[in-house]
Amino acid sequence: KVRTRFAPSPTGYMHIGNLRTALYGYLYAKAQKGDFILRIEDTDRTRYVADAVDFINRTLEMAHIVPDEGPDIGGDCGPYVQSERMDIYKKYAEELVKTGHAYYCFCDPDEDHSAGEFGGYDRTCRDLDAAVIEQHLKNGDPYVIRQKMPLDGSTTFFDVLHGNITIPNSELEDQVLLKRDGMPTYNFANVIDDHLMGISHIMRGAEFITSTPKYILLYEAYGWEVPTFIHLAPVMGKNDDGSVSKLSKRHGATSFDDLVKLGYLPEAITNYVALLGWNPKTTNQEIFSMEELIAHFELDGLSKSPAVFDYDKLGWINGEYFKAMSDEEFAKRAHDFVENLPDYLEKNWQMVAALLKTRVQRFSDVKDEIDFLVEMPAFDADLYNNKRNKVNPEKAAELMPKLVELLEGVSEADWHNDSLYAKLEEYIAAQELKKGLVMWVLRIGVAGKSVTPGGATEILSVLGKENSLARLQKSLA
Ligand code: GLU
Repeated sequence: KVRTRFAPSPTGYMHIGNLRTALYGYLYAKAQKGDFILRIEDTDRTRYVADAVDFINRTLEMAHIVPDEGPDIGGDCGPYVQSERMDIYKKYAEELVKTGHAYYCFCDPDEDHSAGEFGGYDRTCRDLDAAVIEQHLKNGDPYVIRQKMPLDGSTTFFDVLHGNITIPNSELEDQVLLKRDGMPTYNFANVIDDHLMGISHIMRGAEFITSTPKYILLYEAYGWEVPTFIHLAPVMGKNDDGSVSKLSKRHGATSFDDLVKLGYLPEAITNYVALLGWNPKTTNQEIFSMEELIAHFELDGLSKSPAVFDYDKLGWINGEYFKAMSDEEFAKRAHDFVENLPDYLEKNWQMVAALLKTRVQRFSDVKDEIDFLVEMPAFDADLYNNKRNKVNPEKAAELMPKLVELLEGVSEADWHNDSLYAKLEEYIAAQELKKGLVMWVLRIGVAGKSVTPGGATEILSVLGKENSLARLQKSLA
């Protein structure tokens, strides 16, 4: 059975790259009718952030990535938090000492034990006499347990994206498996847990490739089956000079949470992240629900070259999700991204939101789009110039008082889009004017700009009678 896992360290932050690892693990497990396991890797207490587990749970929930087993869900392979599995690691580390694949190291951490050019531990304790070891243990001397790497030969493993990878064993340090405080290192715990949790496919960042031979040697030392490895290419960010480098905060928002705060929908983020390094082989489709992603997900669609995070593409995808959303839903959610709206905008919010729904790429853009509705704009008479509608400031100045007079005659009760439109059409016909001309003059007069969400009568209707007339009068004053 396919079993994948997401194994975040609780740092209180979910980088887009981590989210993608979680998503691919989830998609693959679900595509294969397997299980997706959440495991918290909290053995490095110096990096621990309070509430980070809640944060991870919340993020996965928002992204609709649902573990089958994990700290809050339980399962047959728990506990799913590494700091609660200390006795397990100790037992397995000692087993390796017994079988000659690891050894006790009593070296003082304050002494320099680095081996010249090689850099790793100088292996002082690798071949201690049994009697010496026993004496140390009897004295209760603190120790670490180190992996005993083969001194020659090489280690090879297979990666789904990269094929066979071989590393000479001489490059492998006798790394610490169990620390003085009894905590395992990440490099040890991940192997023990992946085996005990029955993980069949390990997806993680390519930065783990060079460590993988060490893991392989551990699997072999225990006589365990080696899982399938899939090392994912990193997510890159575009720099100002056009070059790319690993996606980081200087490229902008890079965590799931930051993107949600900017007003991208969780579903759209997940959709976009799925495409960052994976492409369905059988379709050009770009908008996918989670069910569709699961239905299409195959390992051979994964790319081994780095993907570049593209905010424009994310914005486009998000915009598509907006278009598919009901007006009511959009209005409700967009409202969370604006504050202190004047009464007339509050009252007409549904209508304003409906005009914006197809124009913005993220909720945070709504605020800028409605600026001209919130505050009376600075008018620029030049804006009246428009060839197509044969308008210029002089013509506008001539027409405006007449339009104001006409609109003054519309009652408050009739002040809404349809009746305003009808009134204007009637006037245009009677005066034998061009509709484009009249609407242009009104739009510039009331909005102070030539490109607006909605047309002139919609804006008039949103602003209300008093407001609108004040603006029209001011615009040519
Ligand atoms: N705890 C590791 C990290 O957050 C997980 C790496 C892995 O997937 O094995 O980087």
